Amino acid sequence: MSDPTQKTILVTGGSRGIGRAICLALAGPGTSIYFNYYPDDPMARDTEQAIVRAGGRATGTCASVTSEEDMTKFIEQAVSETGRIDVLVNNAGITRDGLLVRMKEEDWDAVMNINLKGAFLCTKVAARHMMKQRYGRIINTTSVVGVTGNAGQANYSGSKAGLIGLTKTAAKELASRGITVNAVAPGFIESDMTAAMPDKARNAMLEQVPLGRAGQPEDVAHVVAFLASEKAAYITGQVIHVSGGMYI
Ligand code: NAP
Repeated sequence: MSDPTQKTILVTGGSRGIGRAICLALAGPGTSIYFNYYPDDPMARDTEQAIVRAGGRATGTCASVTSEEDMTKFIEQAVSETGRIDVLVNNAGITRDGLLVRMKEEDWDAVMNINLKGAFLCTKVAARHMMKQRYGRIINTTSVVGVTGNAGQANYSGSKAGLIGLTKTAAKELASRGITVNAVAPGFIESDMTAAMPDKARNAMLEQVPLGRAGQPEDVAHVVAFLASEKAAYITGQVIHVSGGMYI
């Protein structure tokens, strides 16, 4: 069972963007929030301070989700300091866009390794602890394009589709141990990732949003906070779209 007064929460890619908003949405008295980032983020200390202002304990670590050794250390530190893991949010992700026929193998591998293999490694290590405590919440950040596909994003949409398969499989394997596994699928959310897109691509994406605007990181974070809460105890293996209706 979970102790309602103490929660240990892990968020990958938690220093900025959607990950930072998730850390802040989950932060509060009794929470210990461990987040990582890689290769470096000047926002990390600021995110730690914001978590502390919200009443939580904060530990930001520069370590890549692609390293099983580093993720084991990252997760074991949380367990040794707090004795448990209640929530894992697999949020770290990158894009390396390009048309399929021109896509470099290294761009395919980098995206798959961070977006999909990283979530697998963190889930594998965290789930072992959650299984022993017979409680856990795992939330994966996929994407609308993992369901719809998107020209120029064969690697990214492939990784996010894979994450949906991982979510559903983990949900089936871990349900009997009191662990739920769900995914959020953001559409077009304002962050450094989308700020880097050319104007033409941004506008084309926005035209596909029935609600007529880009989302904010907090729009995603609120849904993650719900899935991490006791109120979502009977939901597992689901993909919740947070996209202003981009995919209906
Ligand atoms: P972002 O602003 O680019 O932030 C990415 C975060 O991931 C940063 O904290 C970054 O660390 C971290 N990261 C990157 N590579 C890592 C690695 N190897 N190991 C650990 N951390 C790593 O991205 P975002 O827009 O917030 O996106 C967050 C998630 O939502 C991603 O999975 C993304 O695919 C997904 N998503 C976003 C959108 C959107 O519209 N923004 C839409 C759908 C899905 P550094 O700061 O050190 O680089």
